[in-house]
Amino acid sequence: MRSDVATTTTVRPAAILPIDGRRPTVVVSPGTARDVAETLADAASQGLAVAPVGGGTSLALGNPPQRLDVGLSTTRLDGILAYEPTDLVVSVGAGARLADVQTVLAAKGQTLPIDPPGADGATIGGLIATGLAGPKRLSSGTLRDLLIGIAVAHPSGSVTKAGGMVVKNVTGFDLPRLYLGSLGTLGVVVSANFKVLPLPRADATLVTHFPSLDRALDAAQRVRTSRLQPAALEVAWLDETWLAAVRLEGRETTVRALETELHALLGKPDGTLKGAESSRWWESYVNHQTPRSTDGAILLRCDVRPRATGGLARGIVGITTELGLRLAYLAASVGTGSVIARLTFPPGTGSAFALQGLQNRLLAVADHVTILASPTEWKHGLDIWGRPPDALDVMRALKEQFDPWSVLNPGRFAGGI
Ligand SMILES: Cc1cc2nc3c(=O)[nH]c(=O)nc-3n(C[C@H](O)[C@H](O)[C@H](O)COP(=O)(O)OP(=O)(O)OC[C@H]3O[C@@H](n4cnc5c(N)ncnc54)[C@H](O)[C@@H]3O)c2cc1C
Repeated sequence: MRSDVATTTTVRPAAILPIDGRRPTVVVSPGTARDVAETLADAASQGLAVAPVGGGTSLALGNPPQRLDVGLSTTRLDGILAYEPTDLVVSVGAGARLADVQTVLAAKGQTLPIDPPGADGATIGGLIATGLAGPKRLSSGTLRDLLIGIAVAHPSGSVTKAGGMVVKNVTGFDLPRLYLGSLGTLGVVVSANFKVLPLPRADATLVTHFPSLDRALDAAQRVRTSRLQPAALEVAWLDETWLAAVRLEGRETTVRALETELHALLGKPDGTLKGAESSRWWESYVNHQTPRSTDGAILLRCDVRPRATGGLARGIVGITTELGLRLAYLAASVGTGSVIARLTFPPGTGSAFALQGLQNRLLAVADHVTILASPTEWKHGLDIWGRPPDALDVMRALKEQFDPWSVLNPGRFAGGI
């Protein structure tokens, strides 16, 4: 790589975790958008493969990389670039950590209403690249609804900008959203603009345990069809028990009134957590969803239409039992149609073949099945993203336009993009 780029720092490869068993031979940490673009252009001219790396909390997500030469750390692209609390908009460097951004916003009574796993380490660029959503999607939508502008560095050596700093920006193509969930295969996000929301004044979580999945789903269904509008509504297998968790947010008086309604609907909960205790409970709940390739477990996500969430959860439990797998964790987002499960094969029975068999079985009960993490050797021979998406040809054409040299995360995305 070029050594004359003064603002590009080379760091030790060991500073970056291996990605599905592969380590880059060099890790660089550019300090400006222009340096990121130059680094990518250099890599393209030398036929090298680059993996952008943010906080490293989700590097296990994706098909195994076909090639990996350069780790491009975004650590130095950090900080708040512009913040207009009265306009409810913020512009942030891609390497900024979500927790740090939330601290700055909270000082003005505002927030980005997302609840990803590993929020302490996750960076803004990583959040955009993975584009996944957590339990709060029920009430706040996803990052897609908050992203209003973006700057991206490309292997052509250019830096492009799309969108802006205004909440309503509807002219032209909606390019910012193109990068959401593209797993860093189209460009390296260098900064992003978001609209922010007021921080809820009160936060309460009501947790009730049930003797069976069906009973927990019945309770959640009653909440879903009531006039209550929870911030999150989950049915989970957690610590060897079934539970329903309802998160309420808003003004103090509203949350108290909603609690009373919830008691009338479900009876008195086993636990009510308030304020910081409530936030901590959800942090711990979603941290079970962190993708890891080294703990021998399989983390998967299945999606269906929201109404079918209960049937999907039952289907996953049925298939797990039939195949003799151990269910360590299940989180069903009742109302959004997504179920995340952490499973383990009995000792000595896990293999690429067994994992493919499991994915095929689950595709019979889910519209989409994504293996978010598994031991690396089991991923060879399957597409962790499941069924080829309808838009695969369009996705391939976009990749060809943005990165014809296959510099960025080659092979990691759907269909081997
Ligand atoms: C089950 C689950 C639920 C989630 N829920 C939510 C949620 O509710 N809301 C939400 O916003 N997110 C959610 N996420 C996303 C999650 O938290 C992200 O995985 C995390 O933010 C990754 O950040 P990171 O900085 O650690 O990225 P890393 O682990 O460093 O990288 C992850 C991927 O992003 C790429 N990447 C990193 N930085 C950039 C960049 N600047 N430009 C281009 N590509 C880059 C990397 O190459 C890699 O492929 C969820 C993830 C999972 C697995």
